[in-house]
Formats: sequence, C-alpha cells, structure tokens
Amino acid sequence: MAKAPLPDKFKQFGEWYDLVSEKAELADVRYGVKGFVVFRPNLMHVIREIYEALERHLIASGHRAMLFPLLIPYKNLLVEKEHVKGFENQVFSVEKAGGEELEERLFIRPTSETAIYPMYALWIRSYRDLPFKGFQSCAVYRHETKATRPLFRGREFLWVESHNVFAKKEEAEAQLKEDMEITRKTFEEFALPFLPIEREPFDRFPGAERSLAYDVILPDRQVLQSATTHLLGKRFTAPFGVSFLSADGQRVVPESTCFGPGVSRIAALVVSVHGDEYGLVLPFKAAIVQVVIIPIRNEPALLEYALSLEKKLAHAGYKVKVDEGSETAGEKFYHWEMLGTPVRIEIGPREAESKVLTVTRRDQRKRESVPEDALLNRLASLDQEILGELSKKAWGWLESNIQEASSKDDLLAKAKGAGGFIKFTFCGREECARDIKAQTGGYEVRGRRVDIDEKHAASCTWCGEKGVELAYLAKAY
Ligand SMILES: [Zn+2]
Repeated sequence: MAKAPLPDKFKQFGEWYDLVSEKAELADVRYGVKGFVVFRPNLMHVIREIYEALERHLIASGHRAMLFPLLIPYKNLLVEKEHVKGFENQVFSVEKAGGEELEERLFIRPTSETAIYPMYALWIRSYRDLPFKGFQSCAVYRHETKATRPLFRGREFLWVESHNVFAKKEEAEAQLKEDMEITRKTFEEFALPFLPIEREPFDRFPGAERSLAYDVILPDRQVLQSATTHLLGKRFTAPFGVSFLSADGQRVVPESTCFGPGVSRIAALVVSVHGDEYGLVLPFKAAIVQVVIIPIRNEPALLEYALSLEKKLAHAGYKVKVDEGSETAGEKFYHWEMLGTPVRIEIGPREAESKVLTVTRRDQRKRESVPEDALLNRLASLDQEILGELSKKAWGWLESNIQEASSKDDLLAKAKGAGGFIKFTFCGREECARDIKAQTGGYEVRGRRVDIDEKHAASCTWCGEKGVELAYLAKAY
C-alpha cells in the first residue's frame, strides 16, 4: 500500500488543509492581493451546491430573492450608532471614479443592512406588506486583519444574507427558529453537524438584541462559526424610517431579523470535517464527479465497456466520467481519491467479461463486487449510506469534543488539554469572560445552547459569582 499523500489532519490540520486545497485544486492563494483568493472549479461546484440547498430552503419558507448594489452611500453607515462602531474599521471605501473625486463617498458592503433598510422604508407601507422575507446571495467585503486559511476568514467571502421584517416581535422571534431549521436542513445535505449557540450580550452582532450562531469543531479542535441569525428589534427599522400602517390605522415601526449563513465557511467545513489523509471525502451532492470509471489498462474492449457504463449511469442522472488518461491505474486511483469522488468503478478484463464490477466507496476505501444489473440500485443506496456514515462520524467527533469543567482548576487543566468545547457555569459578566480568555490562552465564551436546556450550578465555575447559565468555551477561528 502506497504512502498517504497528506498528513493526519487531526495532528497537522494547517498543513493538511493547505495541501488538500492545493492538490484537490480548491482555492488558489497566488492571486496577489492579501486576503483574496481564487475559487477553482472543484471548489465552486461545492459552493454552488451549498447555495442551491440554502436558496431552496429559504424559498420554501417564504423568502424571495433580491439583489442590492455592492456600493452603499457612506452616510447610510452612520445611521445606526452601534453598527457603525462595529464596521467602520473594516470597510473598504471608494472615493474616486474615472480619475475624479466622487461627490459622495461610497463604501463596499461588509453586510447589507445599510443598503437594504432605506429601500424597505420605500417598499413597506401597510400591514399587508408584512411579513417581508427577502435574501440575497452575494459576496461581502471586510478588511480583516486576522489572517487565517482560505475560506475561513477572507477579506471577500460568499454568503447568503436574509433580511426579514415583521409586524410583531413574536414573529421575529419565530424567525430565529426557522433560520435554525434552514441551517439544519442544509447542513444535513452535506452531512455536517453544528451546535446552535446564543452569543453573550457583549458578543452580539453590532446593533442586535439577540445573536444565535452555529458552531462546528474542526479537526484541530478549534471552533468555526458557520452562520449567524440575529434579532434586530427596531434597531434598524426605526432609524432608517421603516414603518407601516396597521389594520386599525396606526403608524407602527416593525421588528426585523437577519440571517447570514457563510457559504465560504460551509464549504471549508465540507472539506475539513470529512477529508482524510487521501484527500477530500465528499457526499454525492457535493461531488463534481460522483462516479469515476477507470479502465485499468489501455485496451479498446475495456474502454468500450467503460463508455457503455458511463452512458447508462449518466442516463440515470449520475455525474459520471470515464478516466481515459494515459496515467497508470494506480495514479488515477490517487487522483480521484484526492478529489473525493464518492464511487470508483474499475474495469479490467475480468469485469468486462463477467459483468461483475469492482466498486470502491471513497469514504471507507472499501472494495465490493456488484453485478452490472444491480449497479443502479447499489449507487442509490451508496448515496444514502455515505451521507449517513459521514454524518455519524462528524457528529461523533463533535460530541466527543465536549467536556464539562467541575471547578476552576479543572477548567484550567481541560483548557491545557486537547481543546474542543468546555462547558461551565457562567456568571454572564464580560470581565469574567475576558479573564478566562487571558488565563487560558484564548478560550472564548461562545454562549449557551439554544436547542437543549442544560442545568447550571449556583455559582460561576470561574469567578464564584452567581451562575446564570451553562456556557460553552472554545478557541475559535
Ligand atoms: Zn464568572
């Protein structure tokens, strides 16, 4: 057995990620502008499938697509005070065009509240216009100073941003649950786990009343926030002049929410959570080629049989390809394993003669024999089995990396250990969170779970003040 081409991702995650990104032709970091990378076709396929799933679930829950301009008048940024504080150091601005100074300075969207709300003020007139549920699929730009890996935190990243307006607070609260469901359904299609966690008041999106985030543990046991959803109350609708006439003729300021699943980051999760030392491991949905057929020798009879199978599988709706290249069969196996192609079919003289195929599933690298007339049924079941196995493994990893600290000493000891989530009773104070971060080498309070109720102790595990919740700590990207 030849040596695996990549290091163990659990031991050398950074090296593993950079190598898989290069060898599987995902992102190219040689573009030449700091913080900006090029997404190559293999990655764009994953990205497009993530968009497809998110948009399908958004539209099924009553959202409609919109597209707002990239450029926003600078004065809009100044309307909501906390929002401007949160973003003013991160925005790219445009001051010249065609060699001339612009009359009005513009900025490039870091998120689109300040573009969208002035238009909502024009569109929303009466209670009949509500709820208004809209989203756009786009890139946003933030001058991030914390540099990390491609897709994790770039200065340009792809996402969906949904901005919804409601007559009543309860409806806005209910939207947070719907956003969580949309995230859950989308993640399921890619066999990804997440923990829904409500952020602490001091860690909310600038201007939000509540912020929920979906955290995933990576192979290095650090956490990546993949999506967030925020209850904005009247924080944006009021200053931007959004109001409606209620059924009894009153002028009312509506409530709003926003939801931002990070498509670049979800793609990073597909790569990181499922990959192994042979490359990507993809569920059928994420694979640009789902079934590769490899004639093990360059013989016309083998190629002919391979092409007939390709036609049959393509007709059944699979993304299938015969590798007719001049490399050896072994080199081809390596190549398609690196790309994460879920199923490989080898065609040798024995297979062509007997019509019993040698089929290998990528996730387990296991071979099996499948008669040609049973192949379509087997592929359909492999699609589900691979998704199920990847999901089970991913959830297992996440759950096995949640520990609970029983005392301050225990928390310190656990923080020195492997990493992952550490649960503890928290007092809710920002000073306490800051102290924990300073003394544990970077563990941040992520917040409390919103999908389950967890009991907490009477006093804070760290500082001894009154405990208010069971919170999660982790090192984060
Ligand atoms: Zn405390």
